[in-house]
Amino acid sequence: MSSQVLEQLERLVRCQSPTSDLSACKAVINLAAEIASEVLNQPAQICEIENRPVFWWGDEKPEIVLLTHLDTVWPIDSFTPIWEVKENRITGPGVFDMKAGFIQALYALRGISGSVALIATTDEESGSHSSKKLIEDLSRNARAVLVFEASMDGAVKIGRKGSADFKVTVNGRAAHAGLEPEKGINASTELSQLVLQIAKLENPEFGTTVVPTTMSSGSTTNTVPALASVDIDVRSYKAAELNRISKALSDLVPQNSEAKITVTGQINRPPLELTSTQSLFERAKKVHADLGRPPLVGVSVGGVSDGNFAAAVGAQTLDGLGAIGGGAHAQGEWVKADSIDSQITFINALITDLLERP
Ligand SMILES: [Zn+2]
Repeated sequence: MSSQVLEQLERLVRCQSPTSDLSACKAVINLAAEIASEVLNQPAQICEIENRPVFWWGDEKPEIVLLTHLDTVWPIDSFTPIWEVKENRITGPGVFDMKAGFIQALYALRGISGSVALIATTDEESGSHSSKKLIEDLSRNARAVLVFEASMDGAVKIGRKGSADFKVTVNGRAAHAGLEPEKGINASTELSQLVLQIAKLENPEFGTTVVPTTMSSGSTTNTVPALASVDIDVRSYKAAELNRISKALSDLVPQNSEAKITVTGQINRPPLELTSTQSLFERAKKVHADLGRPPLVGVSVGGVSDGNFAAAVGAQTLDGLGAIGGGAHAQGEWVKADSIDSQITFINALITDLLERP
């Protein structure tokens, strides 16, 4: 890897950028634009969407979209050391997820002319609430959306679960637990039997997990609880499964007919299904083989990304084109230094192929 690539990656990592810190996110986008000018000799635009800075290099209506994000899950100074290179291992906050991926995307665009754009957002780690619409609009127009989330040991990501968050609330009735408990409707006992039913909605066939997480109930130790609630984390490879769970939750009935159940929440990110990645994966496999490399592997994973939004509006999408390394969202996340150049070569060849053969 050239010393310039390493030096630029170091600057980007040292410019810490937790999603919640807006001024830090602005700083990282400004720095990204500066680095883009150094690499591509053509300036990037910095736009703002709902007050969130977004980096945009290239076409206004791109046929090929390269999607990245430059926010990280790391609060300022929570990751130490902030930068370390030991033999083939580069460590730092966000280096794997996904600042090295951004650098790879930038270098992969060298020598490319055609209808492409590289986008970097700053709210991906909190669910892309501000940038979702931009990602959808760009994806609707695009022939291909390439996502630079981390690679799985060189494998690309051809499937991702979708996710949904729900909250089930039981309204009962308070009463004194000692004097007249029979006058109350116990929201805790009602919720307890519901939680067991909810957990059983999972379905391993489609990787559907239904996990009751945070629970709360009651007000004081001597009162029949009037209110109880549970949060539920739902994920699946199939969109239909997320809808099945949503329906099942709204069909829940209380044991005591006077208790009232309310369900709130929704599907956050639809799944990235294999049908959306198949054609790009086939091309990527061919490009990879033409470079004389071993067969490219495609994997399906549980975590969600902006690739889910792209696929949901019908775009052909390929994810996991970013860094090779490990430890996403964990202390010590790292990137394999010698993989950066080889990923750049591969992605450059893939973009070239996509532009030459529409
Ligand atoms: Zn990421």
